[in-house]
Amino acid sequence: MYMNIRPRQKKDKGGWLCMPQCKNIPEGKEGWTKIKCPICGELCWKRPLQDETIHKIKAEGACCTLCAMKMNMK
Ligand SMILES: [Zn+2]
Repeated sequence: MYMNIRPRQKKDKGGWLCMPQCKNIPEGKEGWTKIKCPICGELCWKRPLQDETIHKIKAEGACCTLCAMKMNMK
């Protein structure tokens, strides 16, 4: 329907990619590396395609699940 066609909204762009926290997933998968969440410093898993995805969806960056939730609500 016509009414559904709207310009892109703020929340459509970017946002933060979330990384699973190491304490939730102690055993990562192959290719995952541990990095700290840039916001709270919690150890997270960085997945191999992360940088590519951030670039592709024009995300602000990646952070842990909790911070991503907070940041994406802003
Ligand atoms: Zn965090």
